[in-house]
Amino acid sequence: MTLENIKNLNDKYFVNIYNGRYPLCFINGDGVILTDISGKKYVDFVAGIAVNTLGYNHPTLVNAIYEKAKSVMHCSNFYFIKEQAILAEKLCNISFGNKVFFTNSGTEANEGAIKMAKRYFSKQGIKKHKIITLKNSFHGRTLAMVAATGQEKYQKPYMPLVNGIVNVEKGNVAALENAIDDETCAVMMELIQGEGGVLLMGKEYVQAVRKLCSDKGILLIFDEVQTGIGRTGKMFAYEHFGVTPDIMTLAKGLGGGFPIGAIIASDTYASFEPGDHGTTFGGNPMACACAQAVLNTIIKDNLLVHVETLGKYLGDKLKDLEVKYNFVCKSQGMGLLRGLKFDDKVILATIINKMMDKGFLLCPSGGNTLRMVPPLIMDKVNLNKMLDALNEVLSEI
Ligand code: PLP
Repeated sequence: MTLENIKNLNDKYFVNIYNGRYPLCFINGDGVILTDISGKKYVDFVAGIAVNTLGYNHPTLVNAIYEKAKSVMHCSNFYFIKEQAILAEKLCNISFGNKVFFTNSGTEANEGAIKMAKRYFSKQGIKKHKIITLKNSFHGRTLAMVAATGQEKYQKPYMPLVNGIVNVEKGNVAALENAIDDETCAVMMELIQGEGGVLLMGKEYVQAVRKLCSDKGILLIFDEVQTGIGRTGKMFAYEHFGVTPDIMTLAKGLGGGFPIGAIIASDTYASFEPGDHGTTFGGNPMACACAQAVLNTIIKDNLLVHVETLGKYLGDKLKDLEVKYNFVCKSQGMGLLRGLKFDDKVILATIINKMMDKGFLLCPSGGNTLRMVPPLIMDKVNLNKMLDALNEVLSEI
């Protein structure tokens, strides 16, 4: 099958939603390298948008999948699931939490987290149901998460939105405080707005939000779907901010490419009673075995230190580009979640295409930011190759 055949089938039968796909179809992956249908190789700085933590064809992950495929791939939550119980324990051991619920995606984890926050109050007979999120955020695409996602472009086609969710200006403690009333139940936020342009929240702001939530008796939910699982050089981004949330959500990198999400909470806030929530696929043996393989490898191979070191190196090099080129506005991010903001959308598209021609995959974020979210196993040789190519491309603009 050629790329042209695939494109024709896609255009005829697939809902026209991913308009403007890049003209590539990958058929092989190994380490941090993807091979497309024409045989051309690419160094991957997209990683399925911060998903393929261990890159491609990682023996531990492949073996975990193989073992589950030939034993029990899926099993209903009617029954006890060994891999689920072990993964839940592991996540509690490495985080602030002591209870976990598994989902299939980040959106579902966020929906569940909000239900959990509401249930915490409704169980006590307290009428608190409103959720506050930040402008420019991204929390997913279901109806409630579109309302939580504080960006008009995602909300506009689905008006009127689910009510009870308000979006306030980020970085503004007073705006948040003004939005909190007697019916407010929780604040949900990202620590780095990954889809919104790789925008890092200030430490003081995050600490002020934590204090405000505690003072007002409302819950704080961190959406770590993009920032969690080692992406920032710590297992969870909240560790950089000197605070803990009441509830945290994960997905993306957790399964290393196999779909799984998680809601993690402290005992107090893990409010669900039997029957309050549930899922067919969430936390099945295959998904949990994959997540275990990812977490075990991150720990065994010391990947957090690697991400911190390589991420700092990348951050310094991107800062140099910011100084060197006047159309580069800002280098931002943490660890291996990095962005380079340009003053123009068109320049960004040109750069991504030129980098693709040179064999490097990069993706956009927030309209005019070049995002770099490689597998956590990215190496310095390939990183330097990408930086040289990027410098060359920028010098041609
Ligand atoms: N939350 C954040 C911070 C995200 O970056 C994303 C996806 O980009 C989501 C939630 C939604 O996750 P999913 O696409 O797995 O539903």
